[in-house]
Amino acid sequence: PRRLVTPEKREDDLESSIRPLVLEDFVGQAAARANLKVFIEAAKARREALDHVLFVGPPGLGKTTLAQIVARELGVNFRSTSGPVIAKAGDLAAQLTNLEERDVLFIDEIHRLNPAVEEILYPAMEDYQLDLIIGEGPAARSVKIDLAKFTLVGATTRAGLLTTPLRDRFGIPIRLKFYTVDELELIVSRGARVLGFNMAPDGANEIAKRARGTPRIAGRLLRRVRDFAIVDNAPVVTRAVADKALRLLDVDAIGLDLMDRRYLEMVAVNFNGGPVGIETIAAALSEPRDAIEDIIEPYLLQQGFLQRTPRGRLLTAQAFRHLGVPEPRSG
Ligand code: ADP
Repeated sequence: PRRLVTPEKREDDLESSIRPLVLEDFVGQAAARANLKVFIEAAKARREALDHVLFVGPPGLGKTTLAQIVARELGVNFRSTSGPVIAKAGDLAAQLTNLEERDVLFIDEIHRLNPAVEEILYPAMEDYQLDLIIGEGPAARSVKIDLAKFTLVGATTRAGLLTTPLRDRFGIPIRLKFYTVDELELIVSRGARVLGFNMAPDGANEIAKRARGTPRIAGRLLRRVRDFAIVDNAPVVTRAVADKALRLLDVDAIGLDLMDRRYLEMVAVNFNGGPVGIETIAAALSEPRDAIEDIIEPYLLQQGFLQRTPRGRLLTAQAFRHLGVPEPRSG
């Protein structure tokens, strides 16, 4: 089923319209912004390429947006690709040889590069050189091609997914965090302004509280709430308007959807809150184990609703409170 509250990008997200274009307009991530500002200014003053940047953090937190902003602030071209779409070393070589001095090449999901492709990145990042093998067998020889001095901006969900040699070649590693409700409120208010509709502060707050710390989800909820407001002829999106829309969309007060609640209720009721093994949960929900681990559990863990123990998943008192189900007595 299509879920409204997953952080992964969907083809109907239409994100470019509310994407901030300059560092000034980028909300939150104060530490990341401050660092980038200094490094960008220094690179510009020296007229050199910015050191390679690695953005690490869950989907939807603004890695692509920041990469675009970096290029714009540097006043250079932005080229973009992603780990899984670069099939062969030659594909990446073609991209690299097309870069001009100081350009930004953005590689999303950089942990998914295949090893043969990754190999050619090392000399490219370190010495701005391509080492290519031409021909085969005894006739094979290696040629070196000079590249423009460029900046590689990589994005990944977890630093641990990168090989050490690749990770070590990024001079500027930047970790993004989940956003606070206040920050998301600002993003929602700005988004409403850009999309041209009237959002009351309490309406923005209601959307922000349900956005799971993630701007992408905030943007998606914002658009869906707007659709309801239009159909309902509501001139201003107040808390009541937003709340009604989000209830109808089955997104609860803290952003849990039906899938999350099915998971929690099942563990609470059928297994007394656990501990229960992931395989048992997967079977009970008829969902693949991977989907549960990647899509449902991260937010529940982050909210403190769930603990992973050696004996299986365990619901916390907080989860029982949220569900309104009495907690079973332990022991
Ligand atoms: P990621 O690359 O980390 O998956 P994106 O950069 O694609 O995330 O951002 C997802 C959406 O959220 C985009 O529409 C983007 O404009 C919006 N967004 C992300 N971070 C911010 C922010 N700090 N302020 C405003 N909008 C943001």
